[in-house]
Amino acid sequence: MINEQKPIKHYTSISTHEIGEIKQDTSSGAKAFFSKKNFAVGDIIAVFEIKEILADPTYLTIQLSEKKHIHITPEFLQYTNHSCNPNVFFDTESKQLICVKHIVVGDEFCFFYPSAEWDMAQAFECNCSSSDCLKIIKGAKYIDRNILSKYQLTSFIQSKINV
Ligand SMILES: [Zn+2]
Repeated sequence: MINEQKPIKHYTSISTHEIGEIKQDTSSGAKAFFSKKNFAVGDIIAVFEIKEILADPTYLTIQLSEKKHIHITPEFLQYTNHSCNPNVFFDTESKQLICVKHIVVGDEFCFFYPSAEWDMAQAFECNCSSSDCLKIIKGAKYIDRNILSKYQLTSFIQSKINV
């Protein structure tokens, strides 16, 4: 049997924190956030605060409501990348980063962007390689509700799909 090998990524460490480490992919320059601890579903991984409220989204903001997009602190949490099979959720009500899938040391933290973003500033092509990858990520507005309902969603996104 031939095993298809994934390309090996090389990272440089950018910063280390109590719960994890920010690393940069040396070839693409992309930054990612990796866990230094194990977490179980439901664990509160971190708490965050609003650093700034913007009227329009950027690729680093999290949506709170129609015209409120926030930058959060601690800032390293903003390097949590997207996956269609996420292991964390940004709860914008409780301001907690919550574990939604078992995490072990070395796992990359990732969340489902449309769980908080209705209509994203920049659409992108996902290559998270999960079996149910949605490919083009543009925000919850563009996703079938049956698919969305499989994810934990912020109260704002829930309010948008329950109208
Ligand atoms: Zn994906």
